[in-house]
Amino acid sequence: MTKFTDLTLPEPILRAARDLGFEKPTPVQALTIPWLLENNSDLIALAQTGTGKTAAFGFPLLSNTDIESKSVQSLILCPTRELCLQITKDLQAYAKYLPRVKMVAVYGGAPIYKQKEALLAGAHIVVGTPGRVNDMIRQNVLHLQEVNQLVLDEADEMLNMGFKDELFEIMSHIPESKQTLLFSATMPKDVEHLANSFMKGATRLSAGGEDKGAENIEHFFYKVQARDKYLALKRIADMSPKIYGIIFCRTRNETQDIANKLQQDGYNADALHGDLSQAQRELVMQRFRSKYVQLLVATDVAARGLDVDDLSHIINYHIPTDPDIYIHRSGRTGRAGKSGISISIMHSKEAGALKAVEKRLGREITWQKVPGGREICQKQLFHFIDSVEKVEVDEEQIGTFLSNVYKKLSWMTREELIQRFVAVEFNRFLNYYKDIPDLDNPVQAKRQEAKKDFKFSTFRLNLGSKHGLTKRDLMRYVNQLKVSRGIEIGQINIFGDYCLIELDSNYESELLQAFVSNKYKGVTVEASVGKAPKTQHSSKDDWKERRKTKKIDDYVDHDTTYYGRNIWEGTPKKGKDKPGFKGKKKIAPDSKTKRKKTP
Ligand code: AMP
Repeated sequence: MTKFTDLTLPEPILRAARDLGFEKPTPVQALTIPWLLENNSDLIALAQTGTGKTAAFGFPLLSNTDIESKSVQSLILCPTRELCLQITKDLQAYAKYLPRVKMVAVYGGAPIYKQKEALLAGAHIVVGTPGRVNDMIRQNVLHLQEVNQLVLDEADEMLNMGFKDELFEIMSHIPESKQTLLFSATMPKDVEHLANSFMKGATRLSAGGEDKGAENIEHFFYKVQARDKYLALKRIADMSPKIYGIIFCRTRNETQDIANKLQQDGYNADALHGDLSQAQRELVMQRFRSKYVQLLVATDVAARGLDVDDLSHIINYHIPTDPDIYIHRSGRTGRAGKSGISISIMHSKEAGALKAVEKRLGREITWQKVPGGREICQKQLFHFIDSVEKVEVDEEQIGTFLSNVYKKLSWMTREELIQRFVAVEFNRFLNYYKDIPDLDNPVQAKRQEAKKDFKFSTFRLNLGSKHGLTKRDLMRYVNQLKVSRGIEIGQINIFGDYCLIELDSNYESELLQAFVSNKYKGVTVEASVGKAPKTQHSSKDDWKERRKTKKIDDYVDHDTTYYGRNIWEGTPKKGKDKPGFKGKKKIAPDSKTKRKKTP
């Protein structure tokens, strides 16, 4: 394990780190600090927000600062004013014992003259947002010809926010020989492409965890009709009375709309998006940080300026099509060793995005049934009762009022009293949730439930596409074995000379016996069995590795092929009431079953 003292950092920085209670370098620090102290070529460092990135570049930057020079030597660019202030504050803390190192923050949305004065007084390190930095250059207050280190923090977001032209403009004022350090939580293709256009042979360091979710985050998805998403959101929130989370929406309008609806429905919610003024955004963030607001409805960009460590939930109102965004959002929960929950509320058309995210995560996302009224009421009731048990009673204060209350209620038994007191608190809730319809598509839910509980064994057979085998042929063949009626079939994968098929594990030995005793189109069948691939893979690498080694028990096909009941048993019946009628074809992800209208 690396210690700070192994990193050959100057004593004043080590002392500041000790004062801050930093015991050992975080992974990104352990990787980048020694590298930056040794190298002056370009660097791309991938790490999530909140993993100690500021010290990762800040410690080496401070170590390299020449305090005898009066010029700006390092420029740190970041996308938002909040981040700019945060970075400056952190750097100041890291430079606690380097009082001669001067830092200045320049950012939009604040009077320019104070920042100008600060720059004119001299700065070694400037932290800024691109627009304001350019203003300062144009006004001849900021001179960058001596800059030898340029840091682009949250580079993906800066480029997302359309700062590309501003960045290139700034770079044209900095010597070619500078070292560029790009820190980013994600590295989508377009950002990488752009980075390559201005970085020369950059070394790429990855602190891990940037492309897969943390292990302590649970991932769930709910599947509802698009029009029921808001109702599902409310139920999910109601199921977790202590929820403290961010709901990510796609557009500013949607963000505001969902926040308004939640507020009207009595939730502690607020919106954070780019249409709000700086002052409004700050107020919302402050209310959220202080937990006055429990649910923050936000766009990705606006939420960037917000650093909160103890979020319980991340809710994707739509599953993002870019898996990087999903990983980055969910990485905002489960921090500092706490557990977290990442939820996606999806409709059927978003299935492709779910698969892409699962691949990136290297594990399955678990389907959950949208909570029903009874479950929610029970949960809320117990939460309420729990808080009654825990509430502190100041007998002195309250006692003076209670004697009359005791008298007034003396005619009631203990049970009646409890009933009424629960009813006062809960009648509205119970009425709202009385007789609410299921939001899950019934067929889908049934299938998912079965999938959750069902135990499959994965059979490997020496039959593949080279034998002309199709999924339909394979199911027909399984049926012809006549091992039992209605054997559940899970996923099927057909490869060149073999196939994998999941079948009811209760019939494992009978099926093995039947396979080897029944030729398929003249081919003697060899069969073996592995474990059912229901397990969740621990990481993307693990996943890739397993795919490479082609272990039969490790196959998880996320391009799900078939899931349903083997319906070719017995004599086929005619008409729509024949068993498993729908199963003859691949079962459609959503049935057209009608539901009652939701409230
Ligand atoms: P950052 O990613 O730079 O915003 O850092 C996130 C939080 O981690 C900040 O509150 C830092 O003060 C803290 N931090 C940074 N490095 C360490 C460390 N080595 N040990 C403990 N906390 C740290």
